Amino acid sequence: MGRLDGKVAIITGGAGGMGASYAKRFLEEGANVVITDILEKEGRAVAEDLGGNIKFLEHDVTKAAEWEKVVAETESSFGPVSVLVNNAGIALLKSIDQMTEAQYRRVIDINQVSVFLGMKYVLPSMRKAEHGSIINISSISGLRGNSDSIAYDASKFAVTGMTKSAAIEFGKEGIRVNSVHPGIIETPMIRKSRVSQLAKKIPLQRTAQPVEVSNLVVYLASDESNYATGSEFVIDGGLTAKL
Ligand code: NAP
Repeated sequence: MGRLDGKVAIITGGAGGMGASYAKRFLEEGANVVITDILEKEGRAVAEDLGGNIKFLEHDVTKAAEWEKVVAETESSFGPVSVLVNNAGIALLKSIDQMTEAQYRRVIDINQVSVFLGMKYVLPSMRKAEHGSIINISSISGLRGNSDSIAYDASKFAVTGMTKSAAIEFGKEGIRVNSVHPGIIETPMIRKSRVSQLAKKIPLQRTAQPVEVSNLVVYLASDESNYATGSEFVIDGGLTAKL
């Protein structure tokens, strides 16, 4: 018996990194999974590789019309959506001096506006399912500031706040909304050369593998976390415990 038996999940940014890892663990726990991404070739390859009850859909998370299509196609393949993982994101690290207005707006669009669109367009489907769990992937950058991180920090702090607003709004309908705040996880987003240098700053003295975050996301997607909503789940090897 899987911990996610009967769940229908959409995971954005599923063509690699943590999104693909979430998909793998969700399938192992019995969920039906739709992964989406702008990277079509890579996304199809992940779905083929994992196999089973998984489908890939090409999807730009900044486009409302594409969200409507993704939700409709998920429903027709697997039934009403019960889990949404808003995971797609980009990191564009630049000083305020160096960052252009267009770059700033692009980060906000992909990391923040997408979360609004995802929650808005999945809601009618979760109402049909009569329950739901929305997991918004923020970051430790959604809890404290970092250097050269004006747009990324702004977008991830926004996700932390949006999660709380949505949790209050959707609570009476049995739809839970939580944010996840990973520390430094070894994915394509993190340049390999920086990993060992960053590890020294972490109390556990190491960065993490995507599966270590996936186990937390499985818990939030499952009924085991039924009383958790509007909360911040930090998974960072102790990094934010430091001054
Ligand atoms: P990743 O490997 O780069 O995966 C993110 C995926 O989202 C990529 O395939 C990316 O495509 C895709 N994407 C970008 N723009 C998109 C759009 N408009 N529509 C749909 N998909 C889009 O990164 P990751 O490290 O797994 O990160 C996943 C999430 O965790 C992000 O929200 C990130 O901010 C967050 N996070 C990561 C870390 C970490 O240490 N890795 C820590 C804290 C939080 P491209 O490759 O073409 O951009």
